[in-house]
Amino acid sequence: MNAITSKFPTAALIDGTWVTAQKSFSVSDPATGEEIARVPDLGADDARRAIDAAAKAFPAWAATPAKARAQILERWFDLITAETEALAQLMTAEQGKPLAEARGEVAYGASFIEWFAEEGKRAYGRTIPTTVASRRYITIKQPIGVVAAITPWNFPIAMITRKVASALAAGCTIVVKPSEETPLCALAVAKLAMDAGVPPGVFNVITSADAASVGNVLTSDPRVRKLTFTGSTEIGRLLYRQCADTIKKLTLELGGNAPLIVFDDADLKQAIAGTMASKYRNAGQTCVCANRIIVQAGIYERFTAALVDAVSSLHVAPGRDPRSTIGPLINADAAKKVESLISDAVSHGAKIRTGGAPDTQGALFYQPTVVTEVTPDMKIAQEEIFGPVASLIRFETEADAIRIANDTPFGLAAYLFTQNIGRVWRVAEALESGMVGVNEGVFSNEVAPFGGVKQSGLGREGAAEGLEEYLETKFICLGGIS
Ligand code: NAP
Repeated sequence: MNAITSKFPTAALIDGTWVTAQKSFSVSDPATGEEIARVPDLGADDARRAIDAAAKAFPAWAATPAKARAQILERWFDLITAETEALAQLMTAEQGKPLAEARGEVAYGASFIEWFAEEGKRAYGRTIPTTVASRRYITIKQPIGVVAAITPWNFPIAMITRKVASALAAGCTIVVKPSEETPLCALAVAKLAMDAGVPPGVFNVITSADAASVGNVLTSDPRVRKLTFTGSTEIGRLLYRQCADTIKKLTLELGGNAPLIVFDDADLKQAIAGTMASKYRNAGQTCVCANRIIVQAGIYERFTAALVDAVSSLHVAPGRDPRSTIGPLINADAAKKVESLISDAVSHGAKIRTGGAPDTQGALFYQPTVVTEVTPDMKIAQEEIFGPVASLIRFETEADAIRIANDTPFGLAAYLFTQNIGRVWRVAEALESGMVGVNEGVFSNEVAPFGGVKQSGLGREGAAEGLEEYLETKFICLGGIS
């Protein structure tokens, strides 16, 4: 344990108690491969105990006035904000992203808590004009119950706060299973939630190296009324199936294959800035990273040259180095995947314009790369790259761009760059995606609904829609009125 990890717990959290176990697993720094902490390796029985605690805590938390819940959430927001630097350092140590990005994620993650603290007060029902003179109709909103959350490693704080803040604001209790790669950030924000006054059992964290066993319990226990999952489409599909027997409500935030379309009439500077921000953030490891950069023939060469130039200003280094803009990939599998996608693309005729090889900084570092002459049938255009690789496809007409962009089972984010307002509307409406950035490369925030269509998932997080996901609507018919 070092100065960065010693500030926050390395034990799991069940019913307000920090829990250790005989078995533990290692959390390492992807920049160096060094172990930075060990956390308890909990299993199915512990997951059941966490559900027991969440079920026991639910009635009192659901009955707590929204305003009182909001005050606790506001304190949680304040405590996270006050610990920005320590949390950012912890995140960089276990996840690898550059410190500046980690600070940004702490603020982004906290913004959901602030938003839902307010939004929880607005879980309004309705009065409905009657159909019968002796009756009156109303609806009320009620928390759905115990929620299970399974979260990924790429946004180790924001993917937790986005779920927990909305669940808690709605009056639900929650059991979170963070990724085995990044449990420390989850435990750190859970500690700050306890410090803020979240009652025991309302927010539980199960750390485990056996995601399947814990996942089985979370998806099969009938007391869990909802599963919220962020991760790959493959695991999302499995969990969807597992939830069928107990008919759980689901939010699934799954993989993407984002198109970023640059038309001939784009502002080149804007398009480069947007592409750099969308593509190279977190070393390309975000679900909304531009995965296919689809560029019109008339601007293709100029865009490529300008992108290669912009990429040369990126600095590959461990995230703790203040100059770093590209940190390591999360693990050896991720590095292998990037290499195999590049070599497959090159073997099918793609051209490397810059990068294209592992970086000398260490085993998990990859050079920021630009590949041109990519075609839509190549693996690199069909799978999530999840690495710092811009892959450029050429197109001729607007109709071609839309066809290529939509030719994927995924539909999370899409981007387009053009100065033509008519085209903005036509293309934004035609894209099969849950979110569209127009002349913008980064758009996620707490007030806007985040989520995908097609095999990128179900439901929305953030915004008013994000609260609704944790509420049931109850219809009350008042009869006998004379
Ligand atoms: P992943 O492999 O699907 O893992 C996500 C979570 O599921 C982790 O906590 C993982 O635990 C757990 N898990 C794995 N196998 C499981 C099983 N059999 N039962 C229950 N849980 C299981 O995804 P990832 O590699 O962490 O994250 C990257 C993916 O997430 C990408 O596809 C990315 O696009 C997607 N993502 C989507 C969004 C969005 O909002 N749409 C946001 C961020 C990321 P362990 O890690 O401990 O194995």
